[in-house]
Amino acid sequence: MIDFHVHCFPDALSAKALALLSQASGIAPLTDGTVQGLRESMLRAGIACSVNMPIATKPDQTQSVNNWAASIQVDDILSFGTLHPKLETWEDEAKRIRSLGLKGVKFHPDYQDFFVDDEAVMPIYERLAELELIILFHAGIDIGLPPPCHCPPDRLARVVKRLEGARIVAAHMGGFLRWNEVEEHLVGLDLFFDTAYGLGYLEPEQFVRILRGHGVERCLFGTDSPWADQAVEVAKIEQLKLAPRDREAVLEGNARRLLQL
Ligand SMILES: [Zn+2]
Repeated sequence: MIDFHVHCFPDALSAKALALLSQASGIAPLTDGTVQGLRESMLRAGIACSVNMPIATKPDQTQSVNNWAASIQVDDILSFGTLHPKLETWEDEAKRIRSLGLKGVKFHPDYQDFFVDDEAVMPIYERLAELELIILFHAGIDIGLPPPCHCPPDRLARVVKRLEGARIVAAHMGGFLRWNEVEEHLVGLDLFFDTAYGLGYLEPEQFVRILRGHGVERCLFGTDSPWADQAVEVAKIEQLKLAPRDREAVLEGNARRLLQL
């Protein structure tokens, strides 16, 4: 199985980062936030590969976060890179992300303080798509942050329609706690959803309706570890009683195809 959405932190920063994030969201972490802690969790859950999603919350962190992300890509761990849209040298950094062998770029419009459909950011997305990097957005509400929500489904739909042919993933089943709008604006468009933080918040009925409506082949298993337990999240997918083929696609096959593994 492949977990398309996890977070880990450098050993020296992990305890502090988890404490801050946990305090903001009210959610207790399920690993110690290190790469080693993630590996132990993967072993317990039977997950063969996890994809780390780092975020630079300030422009000048971008390079060092990407260097670290590349350094942890060993065997069973892959990573995206990060770009802060206000980094002046974003174009050089995008090329560097590509040459470091990172699989894509994660954006978090709330933490990075921009609206997903801001015209100023479009050239960045376009360049990333040209470089054949996958673009993943935190989508919907972030429970650790106050409003406004910078990546609601209707704004994200505008971006997807503009970036024809780009490989885009919306985390949290298209938009955390905005799922009625996901059904209205995003279901059926040319993008992937990851399942992170969907099950447990979404009613299983609506989860399956979005999954089927959008297309099982465009949904990727993700957990948001350490903010959820990988083994528990696998069990939740198994409880949905999907056809074995569909379950395999969500838990592994779709990610394998998207990541070209
Ligand atoms: Zn996340």
